[in-house]
Amino acid sequence: MPTLTRDQHFADQVREFDFRYRCLDCNFVNRTDLSCSMAYPNQMLLDPQVRPMEREGVYVFCKYFELEELA
Ligand code: SF4
Repeated sequence: MPTLTRDQHFADQVREFDFRYRCLDCNFVNRTDLSCSMAYPNQMLLDPQVRPMEREGVYVFCKYFELEELA
């Protein structure tokens, strides 16, 4: 029986649960200019190409991310 690596398992869960981690889904982003209301540099987490885990296996996230409430 094949086993999944931890990274493969995480990637599968990201897809399965529609994991949100970018500034566009964060409660602290300014909707007018997409800057961070806490003044963190957020260019990387605005990039639609960024993935929640880099190729080297490093997680990409902001520890202050707070999921915006859905209307
Ligand atoms: S708190 Fe973090 S995730 Fe939220 S907008 Fe600022 S930089 Fe982005």
